[in-house]
Amino acid sequence: MPHCTNTVELERIPDADLRAENRAEWLAGEYRASDYPTAHVHYDLPGQAFIVVAPQGGASA
Ligand SMILES: [Zn+2]
Repeated sequence: MPHCTNTVELERIPDADLRAENRAEWLAGEYRASDYPTAHVHYDLPGQAFIVVAPQGGASA
């Protein structure tokens, strides 16, 4: 998946939870079903967390 710059962060799930990635993916799906059709998951390496992001400038929100 190509990763994007200039995103807005919607959710942050610390990697301490073994199911963090599943939870992040699920949340991204929830966002895609509502106001953020381009929402998807990134991994924030410095922050050791999965983040649900939406690219800015695509959809008008
Ligand atoms: Zn991305």
